[in-house]
Amino acid sequence: MILTYSYKLYLNTSQEKTLERWLRTCNWIFNRALEQRIKAYERRKESVSYQDQQALLTDWRGRMDSLRLVPVTFERDALRRVDRGMKAFFRRVKAGQKPGFPRFKPFRRYRSLECLAVAKYLQGDRIRIPNLGLVRCRGRLLPIGKQRGLRIVHRESGWYAQIILDNGVTISPREPQTSVGIDVGLASFATLSTGDKIDNPRFARKAERKTRALQRRASRKKKGSANRRKAVQRLARQHERVASQRRSFAHAEARKIVDRFDLIAFENLNIAGMVHGNLARSIHDAAWSLFLFCLIFKAENAGKSTVAVNPRGTSQECPRCGAVAKKSLSEREHVCPCGTRLCRDHAAAQVILARALRGNGGLNSLVEEPASVAPLVAVSASRSDETRMPNGSDEPSM
Ligand SMILES: [Zn+2]
Repeated sequence: MILTYSYKLYLNTSQEKTLERWLRTCNWIFNRALEQRIKAYERRKESVSYQDQQALLTDWRGRMDSLRLVPVTFERDALRRVDRGMKAFFRRVKAGQKPGFPRFKPFRRYRSLECLAVAKYLQGDRIRIPNLGLVRCRGRLLPIGKQRGLRIVHRESGWYAQIILDNGVTISPREPQTSVGIDVGLASFATLSTGDKIDNPRFARKAERKTRALQRRASRKKKGSANRRKAVQRLARQHERVASQRRSFAHAEARKIVDRFDLIAFENLNIAGMVHGNLARSIHDAAWSLFLFCLIFKAENAGKSTVAVNPRGTSQECPRCGAVAKKSLSEREHVCPCGTRLCRDHAAAQVILARALRGNGGLNSLVEEPASVAPLVAVSASRSDETRMPNGSDEPSM
């Protein structure tokens, strides 16, 4: 089982400057490597591989001093991210969609360095960072296991290290005894096929108001002024606070569901495609995709199954007799001639569960549909991706 443990780093000014420089360099490599891939595809419909780009990196390192100053392991991470992004791109092309290319990252969005190699990173209350040495840190005691990687994350509140730990425990999937369908909506965060509801977290609305106020305040200050810089900093801290609240909400709610049910079904929603226009909607989608990420991750680690079902018309179908029951968005109740009368979202959650249990090709195909789940939250199936935790650096940062 792969787990991530987070530690706050106590760096001196020169160490901080060094890490900042490394981030900048890796950010540059990321953008150049992405550019090369996009051009190769646009001009010749060619796909450049990760190995090709490793050779290119070696060449760059030979010619540019600034690149040689950064541990190559972090630079390879930049190439890996490009590789992941492009693989997801080609998956979408293959699925017949018209995807956009992965996007270039401005420096403010390139916030982490990752190194995937087995080593003793954490030693007592210090963490060994390649080329930088031992750095004092604070965090939880690390359980026994193999330290498989190190991630360094820069947040508004400081620098953090994450240790990726394999505790050696393997959990084999088990036959599902209990199952649940989950429907997401705006009225409540989620509705279960059992009729339980997960309410929208109380902090969300409050945080949204505060964020908006801070945004307004920042935009009123004179450009380039010290006051503006301070206001922008306050806004960034607010974003970080909300993100961390959202993370704990997602983790806690996902944990409850995974503890209760063996098979968990939800709609295979194209979340990225839905985030347009409506702010409430887009915030909700970000929260939902994070929740889903936690759900899949925790289920996998507990030997439980997740199934993403076809979302078409889940709210327009009777869970009991299967008849089509057309409803407008404002109709909150499902009423069917067969006598079924349920709250709209409750009915939809039951339809979702029924679809999962039916499976695609018969009764027993219900477990494991990783292929349909993976692209949804941008996790690919490669080994290195499994170490990417919901609280990792690449989480939806809303
Ligand atoms: Zn019916």
